[in-house]
Amino acid sequence: MNLSQIRDFQHRLHQWYDAHHRPLPWRDTTDPYRIWLSEVILQQTRVAQGMEYYHRFVERFPDVFSLASASSPEVYKLWEGLGYYRRARHLHLAAQKIVQEMGGVFPSSYREILSLPGVGAYTAGAIASFAFDLPVVAVDGNVLRVLSRLWASDLEIDTTEGAKGYRAWAQTLLDTNHPAQHNQAMIELGALICTPTSPHCSDCPVHEFCLSVHSPLANQLPKKQGKVKVKQRNLHYYLPIFLSESQEFWIPMRSRSDTDIWASLFEFPLVETSTQEPPALEELFSELGITVQEVLRQESLPSVQHKLTHRTLEISFTLLFLREMHSEWKAPWQNIHFSSLAELPAFPVPIARVVQSLIETYAV
Ligand code: SF4
Repeated sequence: MNLSQIRDFQHRLHQWYDAHHRPLPWRDTTDPYRIWLSEVILQQTRVAQGMEYYHRFVERFPDVFSLASASSPEVYKLWEGLGYYRRARHLHLAAQKIVQEMGGVFPSSYREILSLPGVGAYTAGAIASFAFDLPVVAVDGNVLRVLSRLWASDLEIDTTEGAKGYRAWAQTLLDTNHPAQHNQAMIELGALICTPTSPHCSDCPVHEFCLSVHSPLANQLPKKQGKVKVKQRNLHYYLPIFLSESQEFWIPMRSRSDTDIWASLFEFPLVETSTQEPPALEELFSELGITVQEVLRQESLPSVQHKLTHRTLEISFTLLFLREMHSEWKAPWQNIHFSSLAELPAFPVPIARVVQSLIETYAV
């Protein structure tokens, strides 16, 4: 495209955006804190569900100071259900960095924003342009799709070369006088018109500039290098419980290591195996300080398959009904009284469901 075509492209794109964009709460503000929150949440979920989380976070943590001074469990609890807790951890760490090292003032340069924990090129570009009107691009999956189709490019989007190439193309199209509106419009075009399958080329404001318009090629773009290999993990959870009329019993739980999936979230005693076969339990029993004779009977709950980006988790849950009450579980297990289960900080989604069903089944 020559310069005059680029101007024309920008003009049509912006006109379309003004008339058709979705009114979203984080678009009505230039507060970098709120824009950042919305961007981090939207990396995990779709707009409809993200809106709920956004309001919840803004209400509980209206500014960077309140987020920075919250406890980690409190932040995780609010994040519960979104998955990939590393993002919540980075959100918290970044808020603390802004308060402790930047005097509580959200950074206003692209480089400084990029230096915050968990903030990558897209998020930094989004905050820099939406909040501070800086002339930098914000290239997310939507924009990559639009760009690859505009130029009918088979440059793979998940390679270093692709990332560099598409960013450079995005920069040539950027309206540097209106970067916020321009970036929002490119993202919205990908979300509403240039959709992953069956793009709506007839309604597209920039179809005249597109080399894939009304072509089957559009459905095949963008190209990716290859799928990430998904590994399977087999998690077998065991819940020792003691039934009495008063429901006076304690369940052993611990928070997970912060270097694995579900970092810092709470879980039951676990045996991980290389196959889905039920494991031998001697080691777990000795870790918990109970013997086989103490187990009256076992009851399996429905098993669950849970998918993460690079992992498929096959999860089984087994209730171990004990003959006697245990009120002291050996470290690292914490003694969680049955009645306080619901008050614990965040659980991974599959465990949260089991906790809920335990409470419904066994609460007095
Ligand atoms: Fe996407 Fe079609 Fe518009 Fe091209 S013309 S950008 S393929 S919606």
